[in-house]
Amino acid sequence: MSDLVIAHLYPYEMNIYGDTGNVIALRRRLEWRGLEARVDPVPVGADYDLSGADIVFGGGGQDRSQLEVADDLQRRRDAVHEAVAAGTVFLTICGTYQLFGRRFLTQEGREIPGIGVFAMDTIGGRRRMIGNVVVVTPWGDLVGFENHSGRTLLDPGQAPLGRVKKGYGNNETRRDEGAVTANCFGTYLHGSLLPKNPGFADELLGRALRRRHGAAADLPPLDDTLEHRAARVAARRP
Ligand code: GLN
Repeated sequence: MSDLVIAHLYPYEMNIYGDTGNVIALRRRLEWRGLEARVDPVPVGADYDLSGADIVFGGGGQDRSQLEVADDLQRRRDAVHEAVAAGTVFLTICGTYQLFGRRFLTQEGREIPGIGVFAMDTIGGRRRMIGNVVVVTPWGDLVGFENHSGRTLLDPGQAPLGRVKKGYGNNETRRDEGAVTANCFGTYLHGSLLPKNPGFADELLGRALRRRHGAAADLPPLDDTLEHRAARVAARRP
């Protein structure tokens, strides 16, 4: 039996800027500790019970891909809300993050409905927000790469993931980045995020392991010298 089950939402439709690297990083960081993950791809149309997953991952995608997955995500709306309420760990990036809000209004004026896990709306703008980002979070500074036209506005009560020290994050006027509700995380950071931010990867794994197996499942430290070096290089780039 696997130690953790990772559900990968829309692996073919929503995978840009190396986002699948996040799933690889989660799996490898478990393997390096003698633990095992089963990764279940969940493409559009799949009959899949999200309540069996410990971590659910969804990557970024162009507006067109978001349209392709939108109906399927609506179908899973209640199951996602139930899983979030039950403490399942979620990591949603850019295109999927936007669809975990209430809606994404594209720059062509097309409304793509979201599932409202995060209290936020996203409106497409003409100027894209592109570049490397550094975000200050309770789990350390996170380094990633953003490329989006959508400006995300969090409701006043919605917790962000952190505050940008470099780059745009949710929009170009406020300095918040991403969103967090229970164990569900959303962010604009691609690049991929978790290989360069091992502390955050372990935060997600730790939450999932504690939930599944109890407090005994703490993760022994790894040598993350290379990972930290990669983050420093990215943080220095425009
Ligand atoms: N299509 C969305 C936007 O441009 C998301 C892009 C992405 O996932 N990188 O805002």
